[in-house]
Amino acid sequence: MRKCLYNGKLILGDQIVEGKAIVFSETIEAIIDEHEIGEGIDKIDVQGAYISPGFIDLHIHGYGGYDVMDGDVTKLQTISKAIAANGVTSFLATTMTMSMEDIQQALRSIREVQQEGSKGAEILGAHLEGPFINPAYKGAQDDQYIIPPNMELVDDFKDIIRLITIAPEVEGGTDFIKEVKEKTNIVLSMGHSNATFEEAVEAVKQGVSHTTHLFNAMTPLHHRNPGVVGAALTTDVTCELIADKVHVHPGLFSFLLKAKGLDKMVLVTDCMAAGGMPEGEYELGGQPVFVKDGQARLASGSLAGSVLNLNQGLRNMYTETGFNIGEMISLVSYNPAKILGIESKKGSLDIGKDADITVFDSDIKIQMTIGKGTILYEAE
Ligand SMILES: [Zn+2]
Repeated sequence: MRKCLYNGKLILGDQIVEGKAIVFSETIEAIIDEHEIGEGIDKIDVQGAYISPGFIDLHIHGYGGYDVMDGDVTKLQTISKAIAANGVTSFLATTMTMSMEDIQQALRSIREVQQEGSKGAEILGAHLEGPFINPAYKGAQDDQYIIPPNMELVDDFKDIIRLITIAPEVEGGTDFIKEVKEKTNIVLSMGHSNATFEEAVEAVKQGVSHTTHLFNAMTPLHHRNPGVVGAALTTDVTCELIADKVHVHPGLFSFLLKAKGLDKMVLVTDCMAAGGMPEGEYELGGQPVFVKDGQARLASGSLAGSVLNLNQGLRNMYTETGFNIGEMISLVSYNPAKILGIESKKGSLDIGKDADITVFDSDIKIQMTIGKGTILYEAE
């Protein structure tokens, strides 16, 4: 049955429009004046809330006690269902640097869920975070499993891998970048990298177009040695930001939006299994993680992903910067869709696109999440 949402603030591009209803089935069918809503449509009154394009998370490892690396179809589906409560309608299931066997199993389970359906937020494919990274900036990745880049893994799973985080400076990095760009549409992202500014700029020329959690696990910005951060800020690449106010100081949020432009930044969670769970001891990539005061850390003190919800990240950006919701919504919708090349189907509330819709109040609390026209989550 066709549905419509009305009595809300519709986010269309960077404009916020009132007095209109959005009509949809699996896809968005029409945007009409509220008094034009006809019979035979399931009408949903959102009571003044924002009606936004569904959120897309390009970098998430787990949630609700489960991890993508569990390599289990049911657990992946549980993650998909749970994160819909945070407004997420689609995401890249993100792997870690572990044994090749574990990574292959995780990728097989992602493939299976894509065929079977996620029963929650849609899995758009996999983000391979490692094992082709630099041990000097391993972050919370287990260095015993770091290996030089090779095409074998990519060839076997090129139907589901959408994004790869690599350290471009490692041996074989240049050839790998060339081959991936020649053979596939996979997005290459620099991260967990010890590259110099010059090496990073060269990698961008070769085809790297994205940056994995800007500032975290990469050579920092120094005015005489600008590193990967300097290359990310001064070239055309898009940048992920973990806006939990722990990974990057919120004093930089406004600067980043201005420096990169609103069309080049994307919010991600990098959330691990402890997301949505009480604080305590968990695991990430086979290593114990201690969650306390909203921070996830290894025993060494290294940050180990986050416990951030995507709507909380958006709220942090919103409260720390002077931008309005309409301007900022692209950071969790259109921009990630564009990065993956799926902006003709997702990322904005345009007629013909998938009916992926997130409804939230003025405090960015999620009221309802709709994926391809099906209600995935509804607040009580
Ligand atoms: Zn990660």
